[in-house]
Amino acid sequence: MAINLPIDINKVKGFMDPSEGNALYSYAKEFTSKGDALEIGSYCGKSAVYIGSAVKENKRKLYSIDHHKGSEEQQPGEEYFDPDLINKKGDGIDTLPFFLKTIKDSSLEGSVIPIVSSSEEAYVDLKINFNMIFIDGGHSEEAAQNDYRLWSEKLNINGLLAIHDVFPNPGDGGRPPHNIFLKALESGKFEEIEMVKSLALLKKIK
Ligand code: MG
Repeated sequence: MAINLPIDINKVKGFMDPSEGNALYSYAKEFTSKGDALEIGSYCGKSAVYIGSAVKENKRKLYSIDHHKGSEEQQPGEEYFDPDLINKKGDGIDTLPFFLKTIKDSSLEGSVIPIVSSSEEAYVDLKINFNMIFIDGGHSEEAAQNDYRLWSEKLNINGLLAIHDVFPNPGDGGRPPHNIFLKALESGKFEEIEMVKSLALLKKIK
């Protein structure tokens, strides 16, 4: 499928391969024709451009949750720290200005709804179900397990569960996203549709 993105996606900071982004767009287009999408982990908005462009075409919304303080591995001194993202106090990072700029530059305001909150707090307040959920939040075991446990219940039957950074080979990356991918399959509630690089795509079947 040819995709016309509203901005030069290569200029948006993020950790998403173009083939994964294109898959997110295509699946969002298919699965959100009758319902909204949710993503956990906005960062600077790269995946929100892919998913948001599709939901906008479907006249639906993408709710995008992030506390915008960065995950463990993005803090100063850690492996994925980006000094451009340092916060005003200089003791951590703040990705919210980057995210908002990405959404504005992409004309996705109104289609992508930022929720500045932890995943758990957002879960308490957000009382709607979704036709697509993309999990790309904290990569600790606790964060990944929480995101799966909480949000997979908010996914409608026949909805799409997408999980980023799923690495079957332990040498390629951390285990928690792969662990929740296996948990979803073992639950019998999901079936695998496709893997696109480290993007796992599953359909909720019951
Ligand atoms: Mg990711």
